[in-house]
Amino acid sequence: MSSKDINIRIGELETGIGHIRDLQVRIGRVLDEKWAEPAGPTPFPSLTALRNWDRTLLNRYRPFYLPFCDLCCLCTYGKCDLTGSKRGACGISMAAQQSRIVLLAACIGAATHISHARELVAHLIQEFGRERKLDAGSSVEVEAPVIRLVCGIRPRTLADLEPVLDYAEQQVTALLSATHTGQEGDPIDLESKVLHAGMVDQVGMEVADIAQISAYNFPKAEPATALVDLGMAAVDTAKPVILVIGHNVPPAAGILDYLQDRGLAGGVEVTGICCSAIDASRYSPEAKIVGPISWQMRYVRSGIPDVVVVDEQCIRTDILEAAKAHGMPLIATSEKVCLGLPDRTADAADAIVADLTGGRSPGAFILDPEKVGEVAVKTALAVAPARRAARNAPYRVDPREEAGRCGGCGFCQRACPNDLNVPKAMQACAAGDTGMLAALYDACLGCTRCEHACPQGIPVHSCILAAAGESIRNERFSMRTGRGAIGDIEIRQVGGPIVLGEIPGVVAFVGCANYPDGGRELAEMAGEFATRKYIVCTSGCAAMTIGMYRNEEGKTLYETYPGDFQAGGIVNVGSCVSNAHIAGAAIKIASIFARRNLRANYEEIADYVHNRVGAVGIAWGAMSQKAASIAAGFWRLGIPVIVGPHGTKYRRMLLGRADREEDWYVLDARSGEEVYTGPVPEHLFIAAETPEEAMILAAKLCMRPNDTARGRALKLTHYIDLHRRHRGGIPDDLPLFVRTASDIPITMKEELLQVLREKDWKEIRIPDPTLLRRPARGRQD
Ligand code: SF4
Ligand code: SF4
Ligand code: SF4
Repeated sequence: MSSKDINIRIGELETGIGHIRDLQVRIGRVLDEKWAEPAGPTPFPSLTALRNWDRTLLNRYRPFYLPFCDLCCLCTYGKCDLTGSKRGACGISMAAQQSRIVLLAACIGAATHISHARELVAHLIQEFGRERKLDAGSSVEVEAPVIRLVCGIRPRTLADLEPVLDYAEQQVTALLSATHTGQEGDPIDLESKVLHAGMVDQVGMEVADIAQISAYNFPKAEPATALVDLGMAAVDTAKPVILVIGHNVPPAAGILDYLQDRGLAGGVEVTGICCSAIDASRYSPEAKIVGPISWQMRYVRSGIPDVVVVDEQCIRTDILEAAKAHGMPLIATSEKVCLGLPDRTADAADAIVADLTGGRSPGAFILDPEKVGEVAVKTALAVAPARRAARNAPYRVDPREEAGRCGGCGFCQRACPNDLNVPKAMQACAAGDTGMLAALYDACLGCTRCEHACPQGIPVHSCILAAAGESIRNERFSMRTGRGAIGDIEIRQVGGPIVLGEIPGVVAFVGCANYPDGGRELAEMAGEFATRKYIVCTSGCAAMTIGMYRNEEGKTLYETYPGDFQAGGIVNVGSCVSNAHIAGAAIKIASIFARRNLRANYEEIADYVHNRVGAVGIAWGAMSQKAASIAAGFWRLGIPVIVGPHGTKYRRMLLGRADREEDWYVLDARSGEEVYTGPVPEHLFIAAETPEEAMILAAKLCMRPNDTARGRALKLTHYIDLHRRHRGGIPDDLPLFVRTASDIPITMKEELLQVLREKDWKEIRIPDPTLLRRPARGRQD
C-alpha cells in the first residue's frame, strides 16, 4: 500500500492525563516511505492546489471565446439568452458559461477514462490478484510518471492503483459539482478547473494503460512492435467473423483466450474498430484492426461480421438496430452500454447462444468477459454458414434504383457535416454513372445524417458504400501496434537534444480524423514532420488513420519510419489511454534528463516542460468529449494543442498575445531577473482550418525560451521553410523569435539579417527560464 487516509475515532477513553470523549483525528495521506525521493508540495492536489500555476498560464494564454451556442438550458430557470452582455437567471456570463461547458466536456472525458480504468483494474485484480506487479518494461524504471508527479506515490501492484482511482474519482465529482447552477462563476477559475480535469484524466489514462500492459503482457516500451494488418481486406471472410467495438479490452481478450484454449485460434477472425481493436492487437497477433471509430456503419453494412461485441465509448448508439438489420447478434459487455438488452450474465452460455442463434433475442448483455468469449465464438460459428449469403450481398441496395427515387431536394447535403454533394452524385447515378457516388466514399464519415434527412428514405450511406464496393474490398494497410511507455534509455538519449532544441520538436497526433480528407491530411502531416526529423507520436484512431495511406513506393508511414522515440521516429504508443505515455515522456525528460524531483512536484515539472520541452499536440478531426480532457491534460503541463479542422467548435481557444510584450517575461533562474523571451510558445490552444496552417503553427509552437542558439536556428529553419512553402514568403513575426544573431539559420543569414534590420530588430538575452519564483531563488544548476 503506498498511500492511505488514516481516521481515528475514540468514543470514550480513560487515560493518565484525563478522560477523552468523542475524539476524531484524520490524517489526509501517508506517503510511501519505501520510496526515497523527497515528496514535493502537492501530493493528491485538491481543486485549487495548483490554482496559482493555472493562473500563471491563463494570464498569458487568455481564453478567447467562440460561443458555439449562446443559450443555456442546463436548469429549469432557463432557457437563458446569454447574447451580448446578458446574464443567465443564475447570474452567469457568456464567458463563464463557455468555460463551464468546456469544464463539463472535460469532466465527461475524464470520467470516461477513469471509469474505464476502474472497471479494468477491478477485472484484472479479479483475474490476476491484487499483488500482481506493475511492469511497464525492463527499460522503464520511472514506470508511472504521471501518478508519481500528481499523487506523489509510486505504485507497485494492481492494488496500489485503487487509491489513485479513489482520488481521481473524488476530483471529477467535485469538478462536476462546480458546474451546478449557482456555483463557480469566474471564467478563469472555471478554466483552472478544466486544467485540473485534464490532469486527473491523465492519471486515469495512465492507470488504465499500465494495468493492462502489466497484466495482459502487452508490448512493454518496445520500439519495434509488430506490424499488424489494417483494413477490411485484411479480414478472411471465408471464416466466421467477430467484430469488437469500443475501448475496454477484456471482452476481446476473453474471445481470443477462448479460441486459444479450445484450439480454435486462426479458425475465427477477431476483428475490431476503435481502441478495443488496437488493444486486442497488443494482446494477440491473431487480432485484426478494421478501422477507426467512423467505420462502424461501413463495416456492419458490409455484412462481413457475424457477431458484434460492444464494450464502452465511441460506440454508435444505434448499433443494435444496424446489427439487427444485418442479422448479426450483438453482445453488450459494459454497464455503461446496456442497449436495452436482457442481462444474461448469470445464464449458461449455451442457453444464451441458443437464443441468439434461434432468433429469439437480437442480443444479450453479459458482464463476464470469459462468458462473452464463449458466447461470441459459439454464436459466430453457428450463424456464419447461414450468413454467407448476406456477405455476398453487402449494403443490400442497388444505388441506381435508389437514385431513381431521388427528388434532388438537397436535404442530405444540408445535413452532411462534410457538405458532400450527394444530390449531384445521385443525379449522375440515376443516369447510370456511379463514379461520383463512389468518389464521396473517402470523405464520408458514415454518420448517416443524410439518411435521416432524406424525405424519400433513401439509404444514402449504403448507396455510397455500394458504389465504392471495389475500393472497400481492397483496403488493406498496416500499422505498428501500440508500444506503451517510452523507455528511460530513449529519454536519456533524446532529453538533451530536445531541451536544447537540436531535435526540433515532439509532435503528437491524437484524435479521430473524422473530417473531409482528415485521414489523408493526418498521414501527410505526420510524414512531413517525421521527414523533418521531429519525433512523431500517435495513439488511438489517429494511429490507425496514419497507417491507411501509402507513399509512391506503396509503403505506409509505419513501414517507412522506425518506432523509436528518436528524431524521425513514428511512435505509436497504443490506444486512447496510452496518451498518458506521451505526457509521461515529457515529464520523464524533466526527471531523467534534468534530474528534477517528480514526486508530487507538479508546478516545477510543468514549468520545466513548458519552458524547455518543445512538444505540441495536434487533434485533427471531430472527436468526443475526451478531446477536451486529453487536451487539458497537456495544457496544464504547458504543452500547446492545435485542433482542426472545425476546431472552433471547441468554444474557446487559449491564445497568447504576441503584441503584449509584458506577457512574455520569464525569470532567469540563475539571477532571478525578469527577462523578455519573445512569445514562445505563442498559444496554448488554437484552431487551424487547413493542414498547412496546422503544420506552420506546430513548427512555431515547438519553440521554447530555453532553446540554444543552434536549436532555435533549426526550429526557425523548419518554421520559415513551411511558411514559405505553404503561405509564401518569410513570416512577418520572424523578429519575435530571433533572440541573437546566432539564432539565424546559417543558410539564410544574409536574407534574414536584411529583413531583421528593416524591422528594427534588437538582440535579447537567452535566460535559464522559469515562470516560478520558487526555483528561481538560489537555483544554480
Ligand atoms: S444554469 Fe443558469 S444560465 Fe443555465 S438555464 Fe439555469 S439559470 Fe439559466
Ligand atoms: S453519411 Fe456521409 S454523406 Fe451522409 S451525412 Fe454523413 S458524411 Fe455526409
Ligand atoms: S435528401 Fe434524398 S431525395 Fe433529397 S437530394 Fe438527398 S438523396 Fe435525393
